[in-house]
This record gives sequence, structure tokens and C-alpha cells, in this order.
Amino acid sequence: IAPVITVDGPSGAGKGTLCQALANEFGWQLLDSGAIYRVLALAALHHHVDIQSEDALVPLAANLDVRFVPEENHLKVILEGEDVTNQIRTETVGNTASQAATFPRVREALLRRQRAFRGMPGLIADGRDMGTVVFPDAPVKIFLDASAEERAHRRMKQLQEKGFDVNFDRLLTEIQERDYRDRNRAVAPLVAAKDALILDSTSMSIEEVIEKAQTYAKK
Ligand code: C5P
Repeated sequence: IAPVITVDGPSGAGKGTLCQALANEFGWQLLDSGAIYRVLALAALHHHVDIQSEDALVPLAANLDVRFVPEENHLKVILEGEDVTNQIRTETVGNTASQAATFPRVREALLRRQRAFRGMPGLIADGRDMGTVVFPDAPVKIFLDASAEERAHRRMKQLQEKGFDVNFDRLLTEIQERDYRDRNRAVAPLVAAKDALILDSTSMSIEEVIEKAQTYAKK
């Protein structure tokens, strides 16, 4: 059975960058489970499916036509033949995804799809419940955290670099709302697995985070 390294944590903690670095370092597959929830949200928006209705979302989740194509330093995301790599990154899609992710049967419908990513030589799994629900038997689990303020700062910098005009307080509020929803939902709430290494990246550079995680994963 192929090894898995799970990386869970709140939005904006740096999981994506860390997981891409680990996948490159080990030459393993990468699962961006958040992207699956984001694609589901985008599909619901495209097809005018009621995001509040679990009954409507379940069949959409079960039949989601999504493909991930590994590129040089990121995953290309294809929904129904269309490249949606950038489209799924907006705050609207992120927020819609976190609403859809509160439904137990929606999560259930996406479970097998996520587990199917496990394969040789190994998998780096990025998400909220990778170590607790999807791959509870993973030999290496990391929980990457950072303060909400620091995550809002990082997000603001990223958006400014892309030329977007952003308001810090609004970003912080959005991050806090999403955290609250992810941490307090009834199923698979965002929480560190009991056997996870907790890394608080608030005052660490991404290079330090990568270094610490690599050392831990090779132990
Ligand atoms: O990580 P990302 O911001 O792309 O995830 C979008 C949303 O999808 C999260 O806010 C969370 O509600 C949901 N999600 C989840 N379980 C995962 C990954 C993401 O519930 N494993």
C-alpha cells in the first residue's frame, strides 16, 4: 500500500506551496482536495444548482467531471473539458466550496474519488480532513497553522502582486468566516489529527516550513 503524507490546516496557511514542494522533492502524486470542493462549487454555480440543497449537490458531486493534470509547478484543473485552474481560486468560489463542504453526503460522495489518488510511489494529500478522515492510516501527518492576521497579510500580498486592489479588513473577515465554518461543521471539522505534527508558520518563512516538514517526513 502506497505511503501518504497528509497536510491539513486552515485556508492560507501555505499548504499548497508546501505540498507542491514535497511532491517535487519526493516525486510523489499530489492531491489538492480543496480544488475538488472548489470545482464542485463552480459546477454548481455554472449549472444553477442550489448551493443550499444537499439533495441537489450530491448527484453533482458523484458525477463531477474533473481532471487534474500535473504541470511544472502546479496542477491544471479541468472541469467538463474546460481549464478552470484560475477560475476556482476566487473568494466567491472558496466560500461557496466551504458551504457545500458542510454537507455529510456531499463529503461522502467525494471520498472514493480522493482515496483513488493513492498510488505508488506515494501521495501528498492537501486539505482539511486528510489525516483525520480520508487517510487516517497515513504514516506522516502535518497540521500547518498560522494566525488569521498573518494569513490575511499573505493573501493580500498575493492578490496585490496579481494587480488586485484589496481591503485587509475584508480579507480578514472572510478568512475568519471560512475558518469558523470549517472548524465548527458537524462532519470532518478542521482539526489536527492526534498523531499530526503541528507546525505554526505565523513567524516562519515558507522555506523554513518546507525544511521542517521535509526533515519530519524523512524521519
Ligand atoms: O483549501 P481550499 O481553500 O482550496 O478549500 C476550499 C474549501 O473546501 C475549504 O474552505 C473547506 O471548506 C473545503 N474543504 C474541505 N475538506 C477538504 C478540503 C477543502 O472541507 N479536504
